[in-house]
Amino acid sequence: MTISKIGVVGAGTMGNGITQAFAVAGLDVVMMDIGEPQVQRGLATIGASLDRLIKKEKMSAEQKAAAMARISTATAVSALADCDLVIEAATENLELKLDIFAQLGAVMRADAILASNTSSISITKLAAATERSAQVIGMHFFNPVPMMALVEVIRGLQTSDETYAKVESVAKAIGKTPVQIKNSPGFVVNRMLCPMINEAVFALGEGLATAAEIDEAMKLGCNHPIGPLALCDLIGLDVQLAVMQVLFDGFKDPKYRPAPLLVEMVEAGYLGRKTGKGFFDYS
Ligand code: NAD
Repeated sequence: MTISKIGVVGAGTMGNGITQAFAVAGLDVVMMDIGEPQVQRGLATIGASLDRLIKKEKMSAEQKAAAMARISTATAVSALADCDLVIEAATENLELKLDIFAQLGAVMRADAILASNTSSISITKLAAATERSAQVIGMHFFNPVPMMALVEVIRGLQTSDETYAKVESVAKAIGKTPVQIKNSPGFVVNRMLCPMINEAVFALGEGLATAAEIDEAMKLGCNHPIGPLALCDLIGLDVQLAVMQVLFDGFKDPKYRPAPLLVEMVEAGYLGRKTGKGFFDYS
C-alpha cells in the first residue's frame, strides 16, 4: 500500500492545517468534522491561508485551485472508508478519541493506518482500544501546521516498523521533518518546552523580575524569538496547565508541578491571547 488518500478527523486549528499541508503537497484529503458549519469554517481558513501565500508570491492562483480541488469534506466517519491513512485531530478528550477510533476501525480497510495528532494522550492506550494496534501511531504536528517543519512521529508499544516507515515517508513527502519518538508523556517538545514556561511563571510568582523583563532576558540571553510568558499567552494558559498536569501525573515527579501562579491565573479566566489577558494585556 502506498499512501495517497488521507482522511483528517476534525477541521479545527490543527485539522485544517494538516489538510492544507497534504493537499498542497498533491495528496487527496477528506476533511471530516461533526457538522457542515465546522467543515466550511475549516475550508475558509485554508482558502484564506493559501490567499496569503499568493499575496507573498509563494503560490499561484492555479496552485491554490489545484490544492482546493484535492480537498473534499464530510460530516460522517463512513466517508473515510477508503483512506490509506486517517489522522485524527479532534478535540483533546480521551473518550471522544476512543469513540472516533472505534468508528474508524469499523469502516477502514484492514491495512489502513490510524494516526492521532493528540498532544497528551497515550498512543499505546489509543492503540489498545483498536483491533489494529500495530497500525496505530501518533503524528504530532505543530501550530501553524503549514509553517512548522516538525512532525513528532510517536510509536506506541504496539506500533509496527512497517507502520512507522510508511508514516515517516509520507511526512517527508509533504516536506515535513519527522522525528521518531517513543510514546511517553509530553513526547519530546512539550516535555522540554512546557517546564521551561512553567519555570518562567515560578520566577514571575517569586518576584524575580517583571513579565516583560523575564521575556526580554530569555529572548536576548537564549536567542529565543519569543519570550516564555508571551509564548504561554499564545499557547493558552489552560493548555499549558493541562500539559504540566499530564507530565506531573505521568511521571509523578515534583519537578513537573504546575506553578501556583499559573493555576491561579487559569482560575481567574486569564487564559492569554484568546481571552485578551494573560501575562500581558491584549485588550
Ligand atoms: P480545535 O478545537 O481547533 O478543533 C477540534 C475540532 O474537532 C473541532 O472543529 C470540533 O468540531 C472537532 N470534533 C469534535 N468532535 C468530533 C468528532 N466526533 N468527529 C469529528 N470532529 C470532531 O482543536 P485543535 O487545536 O485543532 O486540536 C485538535 C487536536 O490537536 C487535539 O488533540 C490537540 O491536543 C492537538 N494539537 C493541538 C495543537 C495546537 O497548538 N492547537 C498542537 C498540536 C496538537
